[in-house]
Amino acid sequence: MPRLVVALGGNALERAGGTGSWEESVIQMRTAARALATAAAQGEELLLTHGNGPQVGALLRQNELAEREVPPRALDVLVAETEGQIGYLIAQELEPELARSGRPRIVQNFPSRMVVSSRDPALRRPSKPIGRFYTENEANLLRKNRGWTLARDAARGGWRRLVPSPRPIGWVEAESFLQLLAHHLTDRTMPIVAGGGGIPVLDRGHGRFSGIEAVIDKDYAAALVGRLVGAPRLAILTDVPAVAVGFHKPWERWLTDVRAAELRGFVEAGEFGAGSMLPKVEAALDFLDGGGKEVVICDTSTLPRALRGETGTRIHP
Ligand code: ADP
Ligand code: MG
Repeated sequence: MPRLVVALGGNALERAGGTGSWEESVIQMRTAARALATAAAQGEELLLTHGNGPQVGALLRQNELAEREVPPRALDVLVAETEGQIGYLIAQELEPELARSGRPRIVQNFPSRMVVSSRDPALRRPSKPIGRFYTENEANLLRKNRGWTLARDAARGGWRRLVPSPRPIGWVEAESFLQLLAHHLTDRTMPIVAGGGGIPVLDRGHGRFSGIEAVIDKDYAAALVGRLVGAPRLAILTDVPAVAVGFHKPWERWLTDVRAAELRGFVEAGEFGAGSMLPKVEAALDFLDGGGKEVVICDTSTLPRALRGETGTRIHP
C-alpha cells in the first residue's frame, strides 16, 4: 500500500514563462523525476497525482483555433486528454530514474473521474480563469451565445472565461483501484491517479456519471485520494520553498513545522493566496482531519530533503 501521496504542481511539468513545447516539459519533468526517484530510494512507496493548468489551457486554445474544422471538445474531455499526455510524460521520465536508483517500477496511469456535488455553491460561482483573452464585444457575444461567465482581467487587459472549481467529494474508481492495489498491483507498480484533479462528474444515479465544464484543483483531489487509500503522508510539490506567512511582505516568514490548529489561524487571517497556496493548505488540513499523519509542502526538487525534515513546510495534526 502506498505510504506517500505526491501531488506534482504545474511547474514540475512545464517551465513558467517557457514556450510550452513538449521538449521543455520533458526537461522539466526530468528534474522532478530525479527528486521522486530519490524519495522512492529512501524507502517510500509513492502514489502520484498531478496538476494540469497550462496543459488544459493549451488544449482549450487548440480547440478554439481549430473549431471550424474539428468540433471542439468540452472541458471535461480536455481534462481527460491531459491525464493521458501528462501520465505518459511522467512514466517516460520517471521509469529510467527509478531503475537507476535501484527501485525499478512501471508507472501506471489511472485516468480518474472525481464526483462533485450538484449542490456545491462553486458551481454557481465560476472563479477559475481559463483560456484566451477576449475583447469586450467578444465577451458579450460569448455570454449571450454560449452562456459563459466572463470576467475582466484588469492587469492584463481583456476578458476571460471563468469556470467553476468545485471540491471533489468522491472518486468513481476508488473501490476498484483499492482492490487492484490490494490484490493485483505488484510492488513493481507506481500508480498515477486523479491527474489534473480528475475529470469532474456529477453522479446521476444508476451507474451514470455526467462530465461537467469545470476544473478541480489537484490539491483537493490529492487530499481526497490520500484519505481514501489511507496513506499517512501527503507531499504537495510546487515552485516555492515552503509555505510563508507574510508572503512577499517585509516580515515574510517561511514555516518549517506547524500544527494544523495554528495553520487554521493563518488561513483565517488571509495569509494564503486564493487558487494557489490556499487550496494546498486547505487540502493539507482536510487530509489531516481524515486521519493523515503529516503533510509536506515544498519545492519540487527538494522533496527528499523535505521528507527528512531539512527544508520545506511540514504540517502535523
Ligand atoms: P501549483 O502548480 O504548484 O499548484 P500554484 O501557483 O497554484 O502552483 O501555487 C503556488 C504559488 O502559491 C506560489 O508560486 C506562490 O506565488 C503562491 N503563494 C500564495 N500565497 C503564498 C504563501 N503564503 N506562501 C507561499 N506561496 C504562496
Ligand atoms: Mg495550483
